Amino acid sequence: MSENTKAVAKKQVKTKASTKKTTVKKRVAANYVYAFGKKTDGNATMRDLLGGKGANLAEMASIGLPVPPGFTISTEVCGYYYDNGRTYPASLSKSVLQAIKQIESQLGKSFGGRSNPLLVSVRSGARDSMPGMMDTILNLGLNDVTVEGLAEISGNPRFAWDCYRRFIQMYGDVVMGVQARSEEEEDPFHEILEKMKRKLKIEADSDLSTDNLKTLVHQYKALIRKRTRSAFPQDVFEQLWGATSAVFSSWRNDRAILYRQQYAIPAEWGTAVNIQAMVFGNAGDDSATGVAFTRDPANGEKVFYGEYLINAQGEDVVAGVRTPNAIAQLADELPQSYRDLEKVRNKLEKHFKDMQDFEFTIERGRLFILQTRNGKRTGLAAVRIAVEMQRERLMNQETALLKIPAESIDSLLVPVFDPKALKAAPVIGKGLPAGPGAATGRIAFTAATAEAETRKGNKVVLCRNETSPDDLKGMLHSQGILTSRGGVSSHAALVARQLGKVCICGASEVVINYEKKTLTAGKVVLKEGDYISIDGSTGLIYKGMIESADSEVKRVLEGGLKANKSYTYELFQTVMSWADKYRTLNVRTNADTPAMAKQAVAFGAEGIGLCRTEHMFFDGERIDIMRQMILAADEVQRRSALKKLLPFQKKDFVGLFKAMEGRPVTIRLLDPPLHEFLPHDDVVRRQLAEKLGVPFDFVIDRIKALHEENPMLGCRGCRLGIIYPEITEMQARALFEAAAQVSKGKKAIKIKAEIMIPLVGFRAELADQLEIVHRVAAEVMKKHKVKIDYLVGTMIEVPRAAITADEIAHEADFFSFGTNDLTQTTLGLSRDDMGLFYDQYQSKEIYNQNPFASLDQTGVGKLVELAVERGRQTKPNIKLGICGEHAGDPNSIDFCHRTGLNYVSCSPPRVPIARLAAAQARLRNK
Ligand code: PEP
Ligand code: MG
Repeated sequence: MSENTKAVAKKQVKTKASTKKTTVKKRVAANYVYAFGKKTDGNATMRDLLGGKGANLAEMASIGLPVPPGFTISTEVCGYYYDNGRTYPASLSKSVLQAIKQIESQLGKSFGGRSNPLLVSVRSGARDSMPGMMDTILNLGLNDVTVEGLAEISGNPRFAWDCYRRFIQMYGDVVMGVQARSEEEEDPFHEILEKMKRKLKIEADSDLSTDNLKTLVHQYKALIRKRTRSAFPQDVFEQLWGATSAVFSSWRNDRAILYRQQYAIPAEWGTAVNIQAMVFGNAGDDSATGVAFTRDPANGEKVFYGEYLINAQGEDVVAGVRTPNAIAQLADELPQSYRDLEKVRNKLEKHFKDMQDFEFTIERGRLFILQTRNGKRTGLAAVRIAVEMQRERLMNQETALLKIPAESIDSLLVPVFDPKALKAAPVIGKGLPAGPGAATGRIAFTAATAEAETRKGNKVVLCRNETSPDDLKGMLHSQGILTSRGGVSSHAALVARQLGKVCICGASEVVINYEKKTLTAGKVVLKEGDYISIDGSTGLIYKGMIESADSEVKRVLEGGLKANKSYTYELFQTVMSWADKYRTLNVRTNADTPAMAKQAVAFGAEGIGLCRTEHMFFDGERIDIMRQMILAADEVQRRSALKKLLPFQKKDFVGLFKAMEGRPVTIRLLDPPLHEFLPHDDVVRRQLAEKLGVPFDFVIDRIKALHEENPMLGCRGCRLGIIYPEITEMQARALFEAAAQVSKGKKAIKIKAEIMIPLVGFRAELADQLEIVHRVAAEVMKKHKVKIDYLVGTMIEVPRAAITADEIAHEADFFSFGTNDLTQTTLGLSRDDMGLFYDQYQSKEIYNQNPFASLDQTGVGKLVELAVERGRQTKPNIKLGICGEHAGDPNSIDFCHRTGLNYVSCSPPRVPIARLAAAQARLRNK
């Protein structure tokens, strides 16, 4: 990369004139360079153009903080750079020259001059900070001549030569690509340095003499010449353009791409480049450099937090060569500087109204601030800082709410690994993070083993290629679930999330061999019973056991801890009460059992937006009756099985209605392809045949008859109820019977039932099912002499339904967007199979985000908007919700708010996130 960069940089300087006439023509007046210092062009609001670092440097300069002068080359130039074969706009070199002159005149130094040379740093700075992902070059401007000047003016030749050797090393590495050529090889500069130290028998770099450093410079230059066949450049402007190009190029290095994927930063944003006068923390024992946080980023406590090194440059702190001291110690070592630093800390927080992470340098007792940004923090710290800053009147509730990434709330709820243990744990693989939290346990390859092990008192992680409804019991018994196939809305993922289980799915590099009972991840082979740990928030898989613990908030909500004993719970409650005050979107939950429903209500759910009735048929003897119903050869056999299912179904509905205490409950009629309920292995098939008293061959024949090539697009959804109306009839009857029972008597509950028909694409499909539902409702109400408040609506989950929403709305009281299927059918992308190629798609940045996790707003979102518009054309007050997995994703929730939906319905553990995200959506879109 870097050698090319250098060549390109040279070319750019030479070819500026030739590009002028083409692309740049329109942009002659554009400003690409923004100064900060005595004269400051930018401010903190200009992050898009100047990047976070550049914008904040400008802001700090304008409020009088001691910032060394410099300038920012805007992010627009990064866009230009990539769009135009890594060249620059023609006007840029002139602007850069002028900006350098401004620094020179402010400091009385000269760039490339001998007597008082100006040295600069060249650093990246994207809109959102991407710490350590891109390149930095320090001490630029040194050459064989200026090093002598620096030695004279500083009166410290050792310091000057130390800066020079550091610069050559950095430039050689970052710009000219002189690096280790394999994983086994050492960094070649480091090797030379270590060799010298060994020869001289010295330990610390600071023990190297001026002459030693001069020899190092000589050896470094020779290394560069040998490796690149070019000399280390002596021309300071050549150095400047080389470094600038390297920084722009580092926007596309592997680390940066990976980081962008993790944090959903669009590739188009680009980075700015900040060029700033150097100040020196390595100018003697009255000099230092360090990084500090205005509060503790790990737990949010209001304490000054940070570290520094005396007589060192910035990279020494980061590189870990010497162990830095805790910031409090500076009060003893350099008391005046510490007091200055405390003042800066206060001023920064008051001005930026957020916890700041800043870099400072003390040059001969004089403090300089080199950078400030909103500090990265854990979820817990995010919540604590926002709440406490509101209490300190640094911000109002609205701002405090917007400061908390909605997902952070989750870290107050899910089990977590002990951070220290985590650092030491070997990562053996990675999958899609599908159910957050930390789980550790013995590997179980089957649901039966999982169950048996937990009964013995062992914790297990269920590891499967994929899960099916058969595995539900095993999932319930497991701490977490790991699958090698499947996407984030595959069966494993959505069931895990509903159950609040930790889950990683689609770990395509993990090979599970059921026969040998092994799990292979790279070179590591684990057996059944071995310990494995999974982090469903990051997708990382670890070998061995890592301690995890339940969150305090969960313990309070479950009654195991008193609310007034937990400050974390107080923080959680505060944020939730603020969120409820500001949001307009209602938050419901996807729950299939009374236990899930109760948990969701404790988390603040205002109703059930989706009860997948098929999930009610897995447990105990129901699955056998369900299978009997599916295998039925004719209507008579089917009705007989349905009759047996009805009481179970009714009991479940009674449980749900009671748990929801009068809140709306949306019950969806049977949806999945029927074969999903049938056993896959012959042993279970044989057992089933015995239980049902039918020949084994009959079971096999029926399974064959029900086989579908594309079951997701086959006999599922409303098609089931249309071809087997008796199924709809049974479900409707169970529902209305349950409603009738619960709405009578002493503890009568007012029922708000919403019956939902899945996978509708035609108005006639809905009309067909509606007729059955209304007929059964009338029969039951008449029989029990009660009036039941109910609505009948449909899911919008195939493109045709969205497109014909105006027609469908004639029949529907409500729409609920099933964005799992709507994504699947719009993208033509199987929700169960994308794990296989998702990695490649991610690394090529084809999808900004997993479309099953965060709504594809420009594609699928357009269909949602269309359906909302058309649905409301027909029925202005039609109730609108969403129950796909996207309903728990903050970005998608923002979209739902903007699109005017009435509610989102997500899995119970995500309800708090959704409440916060809904409030943020309202505040953001006011
Ligand atoms: C959906 O498709 O978005 C949905 C909620 O239904 P399911 O996931 O059960 O197909
Ligand atoms: Mg669906």
